[in-house]
Amino acid sequence: MEQHTVNCNGLPVSFALIRKKVKNINLRVKPDSTVVVSANRTVSIEQVKGFVERKGPWILKNISRFALEKEDRSALQFREGDIIYYLGIPHKLTISAVEGKEGVSREGRTIRLSIRDNSNFALREWIFNRWLKQQAEAVFNDAVERILAGLDRYWIEKPLITIRTMKSRWGSCSFTKRKITLNTELLKFPLPCIDYVVLHELAHFVHHKHDRAFYNFLSQFMPDYKEWQQLLKTAGIEKI
Ligand SMILES: [Zn+2]
Repeated sequence: MEQHTVNCNGLPVSFALIRKKVKNINLRVKPDSTVVVSANRTVSIEQVKGFVERKGPWILKNISRFALEKEDRSALQFREGDIIYYLGIPHKLTISAVEGKEGVSREGRTIRLSIRDNSNFALREWIFNRWLKQQAEAVFNDAVERILAGLDRYWIEKPLITIRTMKSRWGSCSFTKRKITLNTELLKFPLPCIDYVVLHELAHFVHHKHDRAFYNFLSQFMPDYKEWQQLLKTAGIEKI
């Protein structure tokens, strides 16, 4: 069995390749979040990789689904080896004691927390949350600009983006204040989930209520939005 990695939405997705007599390329995500691909020997590795890349959004969705079904949401203790979901992909947390600058970095499927006082768990959490907030600012701002570009015919002015960690909703829109609020927790999910919430909030600048015109608008700009909405529901939060 060979191990390979491709890039999906800028995130590394590893898969095991099994060569066997199958007609096409088969791909499955196992409940432990590993990806297994079977392909005939006649299929080149480039073709297999291309296939896995095209399946990227589907893979990310399934990895997150399995992950979230199992996840104990209060379990994150900021210990070495803890699993942290970032944009739908499980990352392993490593802690390093440093003399110099404290902070967080992400390489491949590892999130590294560099800290001076290694025994201080509250500080670990504080440093991690500060990093998460910075990531949220960048990722959410990007999503808002990208989606606004697709809605250019509606002349929606870029709203103010507020980021908060919320227990009961993914986001909200105040069209009178020209402001949208997004939940930091969204960063655990694949990018299309974030895009869906951003599109939902921006759509309120065109259709204020959750009426038929509003949902038609969502389908027009994101035909598969219900899939991503469904995935967000697995975390026990429905309100948007
Ligand atoms: Zn809404």
